[in-house]
Amino acid sequence: MGTKGRAIVGKDADQIIGLLQKAYADEWLAYYQYWVGSKIAKGPMKDAVMAELLQHSADELRHAGLVADRIIQLGAAPLTHPQELLKQSNCGYDEPRDPSVKVLLAQNIAGEQCAITVYNSILEYTRDRDPVTYNIVLQILQDEVMHEEDLQALLEDLEMMLKM
Ligand code: FE
Ligand code: FE
Repeated sequence: MGTKGRAIVGKDADQIIGLLQKAYADEWLAYYQYWVGSKIAKGPMKDAVMAELLQHSADELRHAGLVADRIIQLGAAPLTHPQELLKQSNCGYDEPRDPSVKVLLAQNIAGEQCAITVYNSILEYTRDRDPVTYNIVLQILQDEVMHEEDLQALLEDLEMMLKM
């Protein structure tokens, strides 16, 4: 930890670490849900969907890294056991039991919408308390908004194609 870096956050540091741990758990679960989905996807536009899911999985893993680095700067360690990821997650894990592209897209859209809600609330909490976390979370939120739009556009294309 950086002692002065933590000191400027003051009494709110532990609360912010808690919010970041939960977001960290969300990112790992989102990473895995996308990654495994990209391996098993079946159905129309499979190649485009697989490529998008794989790209998103890489983004979520990068987000986990950004969040972990901030947790460490604030003097804590990111969750070290995978069981904790499920326990602490805000958005949970939506197992892709049905590999059809339409179902995968719908599940992952719901996940992005949860992530947008979570990061927006962390932004509100950190706005006047911790500008460094605020800036990191803002970058991540921009990606999640893009992810939601990417998936909704794919789903729209898929539905138009199915109607032709
Ligand atoms: Fe993410
Ligand atoms: Fe995302």
